[in-house]
Amino acid sequence: MGYPKFMAIVTPQAIRQDFPLLMQRPDLVYLNSAATSQKPEVVIETISRYYRELNASIHRGAYTLSVQASEAYEQARHTLARFIGADEREVIFVRNTTEALNLVAYAWGLRNLRPGDEILLTEMEHHANLVPWHLICERTGARIKAIPLGPDGRLELEALHTLLTQRVKLVSVMHVSNVLGTVNPVAEIAQAAKAVGALVVVDGAQSAPHMPIDVRALGADFYAFSGHKMLGPTGVGVLWGRYEALETLAPFLGGGSMIREVYVERSTYAAPPQRFEAGTPAVAEAIGLAAAAEYLMNLGMDRVWQHELELAAYALKRLDEELPEVRTFGPRGPGRGGVIPFVLGDIHAHDVATALDQYGIAVRAGHHCAQPLHRKLGVPATVRASFYVYTTLEDIDRFIEALKKVRDFFK
Ligand code: PLP
Repeated sequence: MGYPKFMAIVTPQAIRQDFPLLMQRPDLVYLNSAATSQKPEVVIETISRYYRELNASIHRGAYTLSVQASEAYEQARHTLARFIGADEREVIFVRNTTEALNLVAYAWGLRNLRPGDEILLTEMEHHANLVPWHLICERTGARIKAIPLGPDGRLELEALHTLLTQRVKLVSVMHVSNVLGTVNPVAEIAQAAKAVGALVVVDGAQSAPHMPIDVRALGADFYAFSGHKMLGPTGVGVLWGRYEALETLAPFLGGGSMIREVYVERSTYAAPPQRFEAGTPAVAEAIGLAAAAEYLMNLGMDRVWQHELELAAYALKRLDEELPEVRTFGPRGPGRGGVIPFVLGDIHAHDVATALDQYGIAVRAGHHCAQPLHRKLGVPATVRASFYVYTTLEDIDRFIEALKKVRDFFK
């Protein structure tokens, strides 16, 4: 199999040159990008330059340095808005996807949900899109239902007709599964949810880094993602909200920067996005994330996605043909992201991952913060190999050869 077409111009080998960690460790095959991605030089350098040349308190100082730092931060917001096809007033910098989802849960859910109301999730959700709703249900008396997962690794959308009643006030679904690689038809789900007047939240942690995103086309009200999974730094992520939806939201955290007027007894709040950015934000990280978004946009998100589709197809084909002892999970056919969960015979996933590490293969083992999904799959844990822009066919070849050795060792 040849490289995808764009790789004739920018090969993953060329892309790797931009990643200092990968260059320093040629023996490493990093297959855990679904957990966190490696960082290109431009992101590391942008953060370093911010501290060397621009560091100041933003939005407060009258002095030039502060104005420049504030402009750089707002420019980062602008870049992230462009990355997802949004208006910059709709981009809220948060710490990560987890915080973004909690923000919606507390700012909207706590105020608007009542006993008898329902929240519709899916059986494949990450704990970040389960636990915040559990906490809100405990306090409001609302309850949770889930769109079931079918044996083919896709959601059973036929169930939507019966699940989506007038009682459902909020639907929150992941766009791409961090375990199965399934791409969920969020636009279709959002349309059905809107028909019953429900608010729609999308967990984009595994889609924003990998495929072109146009938040308006998704038809959702909120879309959350993390910087560290898309070549950016840790400690920064984005909550996108349709502006009219954001305007109706009460603050989540209170403090400096998010207010209009404060008296000893009470306060009024700024308009979005400032309303949701209390305290000193992660300025360097936001600017670093913008550098990551620019880097990805230069590669072309459609090309990034195409590359991952081809890597996944290649890896699945080799696993099927050469390792019958391996059982993979997730959908087959078109539209499956670069994430491959598997078990090797009855060997525990952690033993397989530890053995692979002996050959320099970094994969993750466990429930991947998706215990309900693993229960449904009938396995306590899986090994997960996940790919990104710098993953090469040679990485996958080395992974498969190492897996064969691991199989022979445990025979
Ligand atoms: N949602 C999905 C689908 C994820 O894969 C992850 C991280 O693995 C998260 C949410 C949580 O992301 P973070 O830990 O960056 O908040």
